[in-house]
Amino acid sequence: MTSSASSMPSARIQAIACFADAVRGHAADRPDALAVAHVTEPGTRTGTTELSYRELDLMARRVAAALCRVCAPGDRALLLFPEGLDFAAAFLGCLYAGAVAVPSPLPGSYKHQQRRVSGIAQDAEPNAIITTAAVLEEVETFIGNSGQGRIPLLVMPLADEAPVDAPRPSGRASLALLQYTSGSTGSPKGVMLTHGNIVENADSLVSTFGMTAMTKFGSWIPHYHDMGLTGLMMPAWYAGSSVTVMSPTAFLKRPVRWLELVDKHDLAWSAGPNFAYDLCTRTVTEEQLAGLDLSRWRHAANGSEPVRANTLAAFADRFAPAGLRRETLNPCYGLAEATVFVSGTGRRAPVVRRVAEAALAEGTLCDADGTEPTPATRDLVSCGTVRGLEAVVVDPESREVRPDGQVGELWLRGTSVAIGYWRNAAETERVFNGTSADGRSGYLRTGDLAALDGGELFVTGRISELIIVRGRNIYPQDIEHVAREEIPDLCGLFGAAFGVRGVDGAELVVLVHEIRASVKAGRLDRVGADIKQTVAREVGVSVSGLQLVRRGTVQRTTSGKVQRVAVRNAFLSGQTAALWSSIEPSIQLV
Ligand code: ATP
Ligand code: MG
Repeated sequence: MTSSASSMPSARIQAIACFADAVRGHAADRPDALAVAHVTEPGTRTGTTELSYRELDLMARRVAAALCRVCAPGDRALLLFPEGLDFAAAFLGCLYAGAVAVPSPLPGSYKHQQRRVSGIAQDAEPNAIITTAAVLEEVETFIGNSGQGRIPLLVMPLADEAPVDAPRPSGRASLALLQYTSGSTGSPKGVMLTHGNIVENADSLVSTFGMTAMTKFGSWIPHYHDMGLTGLMMPAWYAGSSVTVMSPTAFLKRPVRWLELVDKHDLAWSAGPNFAYDLCTRTVTEEQLAGLDLSRWRHAANGSEPVRANTLAAFADRFAPAGLRRETLNPCYGLAEATVFVSGTGRRAPVVRRVAEAALAEGTLCDADGTEPTPATRDLVSCGTVRGLEAVVVDPESREVRPDGQVGELWLRGTSVAIGYWRNAAETERVFNGTSADGRSGYLRTGDLAALDGGELFVTGRISELIIVRGRNIYPQDIEHVAREEIPDLCGLFGAAFGVRGVDGAELVVLVHEIRASVKAGRLDRVGADIKQTVAREVGVSVSGLQLVRRGTVQRTTSGKVQRVAVRNAFLSGQTAALWSSIEPSIQLV
C-alpha cells in the first residue's frame, strides 16, 4: 500500500531560499515579537528570560561573526549548552554562518553521559565548539579530557562581537545540521540534514496543524533531541511564533510543571513521549489539578515512542476537569532520518483500532470481535496520516510492497528525508537506498514495523526488537506493559523485554524490570512468580529469564527511551546488578 504526500507545501516555502530567511523575515516584519523564552518555574517571572526576533537575530549574527572567522561553510560547530536562549542563538548563528550545527547534550558528571558526548565529538570532528559562560568549567574539563583542546572554543554571550550584516547564503542542498539519533538501538548516528530538509519538514508540520504566528510552542524536550529542535523550535520560528523551553529535569522533578507551562504560558502546541503523559496522570494531585486550565491547549503531540491507547484515555479522563479536550491529544510518528515529523493526527480525536492479537502476530490488522479488551485483542493507536512524504509498507525480506492492513517495514521517500549518515557510506546505502521488489528505489528504510490502513498509519514496533517465539511475533512493549500494569510493585517503573537464543537454538523471552525499593527481599519470589504468571496469561508466552533490578537501572537514552539492546548485552554478559533473578538453565550467560 502506498500513502502519498497529502499536505501541500505552503506558498511561503517557495518564497524563501532557506530556513534562516524565514527567521530574518520575522525579525524585519515583527522585530518585537517573542521568539524564544526560557522558564524555570512556570507561571512566575522568576528566572524567566526572553528574546524577541530582533534580539535573537542580533545574537545569532554575533555568533555568525565569530564562527565565520574560524569556520568555512560546511564546517561543523559542536553546541554544548544547557536549555535556554544562548542555545537558540548559537544554533541560528550556525545556520547564518553556513556552518553545520551539531547539537549535543552537556557532558555532565556521569561516565555514560561523557561517553555519549565524546562519541558525538569524535564522530562529527567539529571545527569549533560553542558554549556559554554558565557551563564553561564543565565544558573545559570535558575538552581537556577528550582531546578536543585544539579546537577553537567560542563562549557566549560574545557581547563584544560585531554582528555580521547578513547571513552567508546557503542553498537548500547544503548541510545545515547533524542530528544525532537517540541511541535507542545502538550508538547515536549523525543524520545529515540539509537546509532543504529542515525547511520542508517545518513547512509540513506547520501546514498539517494549521499553525500561525499566534500558535505558541513549548516543552521540556531537550534541544539536542530531534523532537525538541526540528520538532518544536524550528516549526515555531518557521511559523513566526515563539518557543518556550524548560529543562527536562524540572519536568521530571515535578511533572505538573509541564502542564503549568502549557497553561500559564498559553502554549497551543506542546509535545512529549508517551511515558510523560503517564507520569502526569499518575502524579498530578487533586490540588494541582484544580489550579490548571488546559482548555486552550490545542495540540498535545505524543510521539517518539509507541503511543498507548490506555495512556491517552487515562490522560484525557484525568485532565478533562481542567478543560482538556480529547482532540487535543495528537499521536505523531517521526524519526531523525526524516528530519523528524512524518505523520500526525491534526485536529481530531485519536483513532484507536481494537485488533485480534493472533492476526497481528501474523502481520495482519483484523478487527477483533466484541467490544471489550481481552488478552486476545490489542488496541492500536493511529499515528495519523503521513504528510509531505510518500510511504510504503514493505516485506523487509522479499521487499514486496504489502497491501493495506498488512504489517511490514515502513519505507519513506520525499524532501524531508535526510541525505544519509555522516561519514558512514555503508549504513547510508543500506538505510537510505531501499529498493522495492518492483524496482522503485531511493526509499528510507525506517526499521519500524507498521501498517497503513484507510490512510491511517499504525506503528507496531521496531524490527530489531521483535521477539519471534515459535514463529509468533511478540512486541517487547507488550510484555513490559502488562507486567507494569498488572503488578503494583512495578507501576511507573521501566523494564526491557528481549529475546535470547536458548541452547537448542529456540528464541526465549527475557524480562529485566525495575521494582520499587519498598519491596522487601523476602517478597521478591512472590513478585517474580506473579510477573511470570501475568505475562503467560496476558501475552501467551513464558518468561524464561526474569531479573528484578533497582529503580533507575534499566538503561534509557537521554530522551527517556528504553535501550533494550544495551540491557540485553548487560544481561548476557552477566553484568546486570539484579536484586532477584530466575534464569532457566537453557539460557547461558557468558
Ligand atoms: P536510534 O536510531 O539511535 O536507535 P531512535 O530510533 O530512538 O534511536 P529517533 O530518531 O529519535 O531515534 O527516534 C525515532 C524512532 O522512535 C522511530 O524510528 C520509532 O522507532 C520510534 N517512534 C517515534 N514515534 C513513534 C510512535 N508514534 N510510535 C512508535 N514508535 C515511534
Ligand atoms: Mg532510529
